[in-house]
Order: sequence, then C-alpha cells, then structure tokens
Amino acid sequence: MIDREYIHKVLQAGKNPSMDEIKRILLKAKKREKLNHLDIAILLNAHEKEQIEEIYEIAGQLKDEIYGKRIVIFAPLYISNYCINNCKYCGYKRDNKFPRLKLTQEEIKHQAINLEKLGHKRLALEVGESPTETPIDYVLESIKTIYDNSSIRRINVNIAATTVEDYKKLHEVGIGTYILFQETYDRPTFEAMHPKSLKGNYDYHLSAFDRAFEAGIEDLGAGVLFGLYKYKNEVLGLIIHNEYLEKKHGVGFHTISVPRLKKAEGMDLEDYPHIITDEQFKRLVTILRLAVPYIGIILSTRETEEIRKDLIDHGISQVSAGSKTDVGGYHDEDEENIAPDQFELSDERSVLDITKDLMNHGYIPSYCTACYRKGRVGDRFMQLAKSGEIGLICEPNALMTLTEYLMDYGDQELTKKGLKFVFSHAETIKNQSVKEKLKTNIFRIIKGERDLFF
Ligand code: SAM
Repeated sequence: MIDREYIHKVLQAGKNPSMDEIKRILLKAKKREKLNHLDIAILLNAHEKEQIEEIYEIAGQLKDEIYGKRIVIFAPLYISNYCINNCKYCGYKRDNKFPRLKLTQEEIKHQAINLEKLGHKRLALEVGESPTETPIDYVLESIKTIYDNSSIRRINVNIAATTVEDYKKLHEVGIGTYILFQETYDRPTFEAMHPKSLKGNYDYHLSAFDRAFEAGIEDLGAGVLFGLYKYKNEVLGLIIHNEYLEKKHGVGFHTISVPRLKKAEGMDLEDYPHIITDEQFKRLVTILRLAVPYIGIILSTRETEEIRKDLIDHGISQVSAGSKTDVGGYHDEDEENIAPDQFELSDERSVLDITKDLMNHGYIPSYCTACYRKGRVGDRFMQLAKSGEIGLICEPNALMTLTEYLMDYGDQELTKKGLKFVFSHAETIKNQSVKEKLKTNIFRIIKGERDLFF
C-alpha cells in the first residue's frame, strides 16, 4: 500500500507551486473537498508566508466548524516497561539496562483512582511488548481492573501489533480506540529503527489495523513519530494508509497522533537528521487538518505549553494533560518515582491548570466519552462528523462533562467562573430542544447526578 517511489515522485511534482495552484487547493480545503496526493504535496511545498498563514487559518476554522470549541482531554497510563524490542529511539528498549517493572492489579487500581482524582475520564493504556511478562491476559485484566474500580469511562489501548484473536479479546473487554503508531512509513527507516525485534516486521506492523478491524475494533488511532524520517513523506504515508483503510473497510483512522521525537535514555537526538522545526511541525499538523478534516488530531505533552496553545487554535482536537510516562507515575505525593520515564516531557502543567487555561482562551475542556458508549464508532461516527451533526453532540457533552469536572475538582473560584462559562456557551447552542435538554442536564449535574450524555 505504501509505495516509497510514488511518494517521492508526488512530492517532486509538487515542488515550486504557483500562487494560483495553492489558491485553488485552499479553496477546495475550505469547502472540505477531498484533496488529492498532489494537492497535499503542493501544500507541503508552499513557501509564501501569506499562503502558509492561510493554511493555518483554514485548519483552525475547519476544526471549529466540525467539532466546535471542545478540546478532548486524556492521560496516558504506563503499566509496564518490560520490552523485548530494541527501538533505537525509545527509553524502554531492551538494551537499556534498568530494573523492569509491571504493576500489580492493586497498583493499577491505585493509579486509576489517582487519575480519577485529577478529573480524568479517558485514558490511553501504554504497555511495552513482552509476550511473557505482559501477555494479552494481563492487559485484559488491567482494563477490567480500571473499569471496575474507578470512574474512568474510556480506555484507549496502545499495545504492539498483534493477532486477530488478541484484538477480538480487546474488543470484547470494551476498549475505546486501538492506537498504534506506524512510527515511520518509510520501510528502510522502519527496519533500521527496529533492529532484530518483533516490532521490526514492517508489513506485520502496517497491517495491524486490518486485523484489528477484522476483530471488530472500528476506532483506530494512527500516528507517526516525527523526526525519524522526512516529514513530508510521512504526511503522505498517513494519508495513503487512511485511504487504503477507507477503501478496504469503509472507515479510516479515528484519530491521528503527531508525536515528535524527544530525548530518551540511550539515544542522542543529534543522531536523527530529520528532526523537524516548530514551523515545520505547525505546517504538517495544519495540512493534516485540511487533508482529513474529520479525523481527531491528538497532541501530547511532548510539546511545550506555547506550541500546544498555538496548535489548539489551528486544528488540534485532543490533548493529553498532567501526563506521566513512567510506570506508576500517578503516585501519591508522599511516594517516590519507581521507574524511569520513557522520554522527556515539555508541558508539565496540572490538569487543573490546563483546564483553566483552555477556558480562558474560549475552549471547552471536554471529558466526554459518550460516542463509543453510544455505539457512535467507525463509519457511524464519521457520517455524523461529515453531516455536521457531531458538533451538536460534542459541544453539549463537553459542557456537561466540564460541569462535572467543575463540581468535583474545581476550587470555589473556578467552579463559580466555570459555571458562568458553561451557561453562556449553552446559550449559543442553536438547536432549541438540545439547548433546553442541555440546560436541564447541567442543573441535574450541579445537584449531584453524574454521567449524563447525548
Ligand atoms: N509497545 C507499543 C508499541 O510498540 O506500539 C506501545 C508504544 S510506546 C509505549 C508509545 C509510543 O511512544 C511509541 O509508539 C513511540 O512513537 C513513542 N516514543 C517512543 N520513544 C519516543 C521518544 N524518544 N520520543 C517521543 N516519542 C517516543
């Protein structure tokens, strides 16, 4: 599906675009018309400041038109750092010698409760690959432990590529999105980055979403680790992979993550010639929003507060908050860290500070997990997104979950200010019956009811 030569040729053909060509493509993007590979290559090669600014602006508009002002919040949860792989860039690679650790079910329960205390409702479960230490049964048991012992309502799962049978088990236990980053779509780079390991099988890794889909998982979360290879080629790789899935299964990615390579134990950033600048990063994120306007785009705390704020204005729809990338990281204040980080983080603000900050900038921090619990997954979700109906659901749900957050985790000042914010946003809902129901629900939540959603 990924033809290296083809990607190279398209990017060559898109070089030195004229102003008129770019104008034509931006017009298409504004109307949410599908961009072809050459269009995307041309945007990636745009060099006039004015046009680049316009790409940024359209990306922000598209996100607002489709999803409104809501920004979904989540946190990663690392439960084991055992790993048989040797990914050159990763702090958990097997050549890094440190005492490996996997959490017991009791410890996982403790982590989930601490995440709940921060206000989280949505997690991304992260596990290194180790068939002996963390087989699928361990992952399944851990998911049940979290669901049974906390108010976490959606667990997305980021585990290594596996079999249809394993994916079926994950589906049965009720996961949200299955996340797997391709890391790089460039085969030679992929093979060089994953030497002598299970993960080193490019085709097996690339076809993981086909197996997950066959097993019934319809929300698939893709990603590239930017910095391993040329970012323009990677953007086209993502687009082609998504189109392949749409054609074959009738549904493409649910989300795209855009992690950038960070310093980790046992690797040196200087060894990576394709590290991208902040400007290139902004360009690729915004072009992704234009190319696949309906797909969620996720930004992690690998990025600085400044970059996150900027990109939230330009197409990002989900962010992690208060993240820890060490096993057992969400410990009590009087407890010590027990394991090393997988990589360094740049935005260490608390969930509360991020929530406040989003509201100060007019965004609705959303702790919503309604879609997958209502069966709005895969193509059903995308149809709603394309028809514009998702905004009608997303904003009210965001406002209701924000009200929960304010009542349960806000200090007096935030709760007072926040409720004003919630009611003023509720007033802007255009559909009268949704607006009335929403306002009633907000009052019910203030009085103590929980987990109300459309
Ligand atoms: N074991 C699973 C797998 O192989 O897909 C989970 C992967 S890991 C817990 C999550 C992601 O962290 C990886 O897919 C990779 O993209 C990212 N990652 C690893 N090392 C990184 C680094 N040095 N900087 C930024 N992200 C990194």
